Amino acid sequence: MDTEEPLALYVHWPFCLSKCPYCDFNSHVRDEIPRARFGAALRRELAHEAARMGATRAERPVVSSIFFGGGTPSLMAPETVAGLIADTRTLFGTTADVEITLEANPTSVETGLLRAFRDAGVNRISIGIQSLEPEALRFLGREHDARQAVAALELARALFGRVSFDLIYARPGQDAQAWRAELEAGQRVFGENRVQEAAAKFPALRARWPDLRLHIIGGLQTNKAAEAVRIADMIESLDRPALSDALARAAERAGRLPDLLVQVNTGDETQKSGVRLEDADEFIDHSRARFGAAVKGLMCIPPHDQDPAPHFRLLADMAARHGLPVVSMGMSADFERAIACGATLVRVGSAIFGARPAHP
Ligand code: SF4
Repeated sequence: MDTEEPLALYVHWPFCLSKCPYCDFNSHVRDEIPRARFGAALRRELAHEAARMGATRAERPVVSSIFFGGGTPSLMAPETVAGLIADTRTLFGTTADVEITLEANPTSVETGLLRAFRDAGVNRISIGIQSLEPEALRFLGREHDARQAVAALELARALFGRVSFDLIYARPGQDAQAWRAELEAGQRVFGENRVQEAAAKFPALRARWPDLRLHIIGGLQTNKAAEAVRIADMIESLDRPALSDALARAAERAGRLPDLLVQVNTGDETQKSGVRLEDADEFIDHSRARFGAAVKGLMCIPPHDQDPAPHFRLLADMAARHGLPVVSMGMSADFERAIACGATLVRVGSAIFGARPAHP
């Protein structure tokens, strides 16, 4: 085996609280799940496989990804997860940016353990929501309701840098309109390019759904900074000292500061917003010194006539170098590639809701 090639480790936990009628996975329901016995068996198997791959750690590949799937691995004891992660590090070693994912279902029992899984070393959660329609959840035999699903997502977002969730599309009887309504029901983060438009429509939406979050994603003029600070939860387009000054003054007057992302002009395009690549590291350091933990990450919009992947990778590397958890990149045409490159936030409009009408 080529020990230069990193290894992806998949750990299967084959137990569930109940068997969903559509499920073909290797998953089983037991009155009592043999957690300790099965956990010990997994650790023995890991040691066995390691010995098969090489007599010493130096002869084995390093692990770049661990995925706890199932079944319902969020029913594992967090100590078992911690033990398997520790064994992996000891037996194989892990890359500095190893991604450790655990699938979870949104029942209250399992979400109560999310913090313990994070402390065990998990850094990405994948939540099996499947639907946000009460009737569909009953049809699918799920143990959670839509309210629990959204609460689980919110908690996961607060605890983990990386979160994904599954919805099932094309259930029997589901049409495009129902799918769209479901996506709209679950949508809690809205991006808006224009501060004035957001100021006009967002207060009414937030009065109806208090947990909606507004992100300002377009280039921001300094004379709009006060309004943006007043209404936004996140401004994704901090890109120059003059805007920093305007935001700092506005935040002081308003007594609040939204989360901030530094927009990086990865293609160094003259007509585009974003700090120039050569100035980016210094500007990020200054912004963090000034705004502290409010600076959550980076955003980019690659040149439309180039392969976006190198731009995505560049931004993800830059965020990792600065220890920033949020990487906002990718739109309807390329969000899957952006996610593969490390995006934690994508801007998807037309892929879900259809093309926007032309702006008058
Ligand atoms: S929770 Fe997932 S693995 Fe378990 S029965 Fe349902 S679909 Fe299958």
